[in-house]
Amino acid sequence: MRRPHGLPRIIHPVLLTITTTHQPATDLGFLLHKNPAKLHSYELSFGRAHVFYPEATASVCTVALLLDVDPVGLVRGKGERGSSWTLDQYVNDRPYVLSSFMSVAMGRIFATAMTGRSKGRQELADQKLPLLAALPAVPCRGGDGLLHELFEPLGYQVKAERRVLDEKFPEWGDGPYYSATLSGTVHLRDLLRHLYVLIPVLDAEKHYWVGRDEVEKLLRKGEGWLASHPHKESIVKRYLPRQRQLAREALARLAEEDNVHADEAAEAHTQEEAKIEEPIRLWQLRIAAVVDVLRSVSAKRVLDLGCGEGKLLRDLLQEKSIAEIVGMDVSFRSLEIASQRLRLERMPPKQKERVKLLHGSLMYRDKRLAGYDAATVVEVIEHLDPPRLAAFERVLFAEARPKTVVVTTPTAEYNSKFETLPAGTFRHKDHRFEWTRSEFKNWSQEIAQRFGYTVQHLPVGEEDPQLGPPTQMGVFSL
Ligand code: SAH
Repeated sequence: MRRPHGLPRIIHPVLLTITTTHQPATDLGFLLHKNPAKLHSYELSFGRAHVFYPEATASVCTVALLLDVDPVGLVRGKGERGSSWTLDQYVNDRPYVLSSFMSVAMGRIFATAMTGRSKGRQELADQKLPLLAALPAVPCRGGDGLLHELFEPLGYQVKAERRVLDEKFPEWGDGPYYSATLSGTVHLRDLLRHLYVLIPVLDAEKHYWVGRDEVEKLLRKGEGWLASHPHKESIVKRYLPRQRQLAREALARLAEEDNVHADEAAEAHTQEEAKIEEPIRLWQLRIAAVVDVLRSVSAKRVLDLGCGEGKLLRDLLQEKSIAEIVGMDVSFRSLEIASQRLRLERMPPKQKERVKLLHGSLMYRDKRLAGYDAATVVEVIEHLDPPRLAAFERVLFAEARPKTVVVTTPTAEYNSKFETLPAGTFRHKDHRFEWTRSEFKNWSQEIAQRFGYTVQHLPVGEEDPQLGPPTQMGVFSL
């Protein structure tokens, strides 16, 4: 290949470090799945990445992710496509500063840590830890205000210092780069996901083609925090530069997630619904019906999707034959309540091992949901927007694909029997629909056929001869 005369091939490092003082600090290695005693090196398309620990003691542990971005390799592809070599291809800042390369590397190297799973230290992965991320050279074209705007709402203390353009020539003045530290007590997976999304946002100059799968990556890594970020709009636009349509699409999907999430009134609405259904003790009947089904299929590993505040989880824990119970919900608040109600913190270790709470959305493919005997989706589908039900159907029936799926939803006809429910209104203000028996049957039969399941419909609660049961249940079997 041609290379301009006289330009040495220099490899330039880009660095990110993360430090914890949570003791024993070396457990950081378990969370990142990288042994602190070793140097880990990876070949990436744009150079090499190394993970090592400059400090690893019981009281302080720092991990460094260092990228050797190869500036010649970067432009080589372009040159071969026919454009001529110009000096500015070499003299660009890509190799020296934190940019989306760092995100690409993090996505490769810390993929498991970013999902919040840890083989040896799951309890620690589920805990908030004192963490400090140091970004020695971060581009921040809008000034350091942006750093504060992006990270402070996520609970970090931000310190940023402008770097001089060249330390040897201070008279040249400041450059566009900052040296920044972010500190906070957060989940490691969240810190990694925040950096993954926000480093390219600070840079706003992505090096690779932004396509539709970038929207998925953004939403997945942004799940649980981006929808409620006060600057989500500028984050999305800068993450997807020059892609207005994609940015709009991402924002529309976030708005929906936010709807579910940030609805402060959701708790109150849930209580209103409970009041309406109280006279017939409907939630107790529902749980009993679902547990009966799980017993009948001898389910050992069970997912409760949209577990809310964990009513069903509590009963599932009483079932000795169920060895593993996973509750998932998009609402972090609900999971916190569930965790308190179940007294997870104080549970004996044997019992605690059986149950896990996951923060996630049924709208996105999630590998953590694969391989279960059964999934229950109790009073959840009516909270999903009809145009997005298709995403949920794929996530559950095509990707997670448990052997048995139990879905319950209110029976619309029955509403007229609830004395306290005004005619024509839903039981819960967040419901997007309430289906009649035939609507639910049509939907479930179509799903069963499409994904290779059979479905059976069962009533829950005392049936009215005309209006049917208060709750309807579909049991799908593979
Ligand atoms: N299954 C529980 C809660 C039902 S309320 C029970 O029977 O008590 C509906 C729940 O679905 C809420 O907790 C809500 O946060 C959750 N939910 C709504 N949309 C979701 C989504 N996209 N992914 C996961 N959970 C969702």
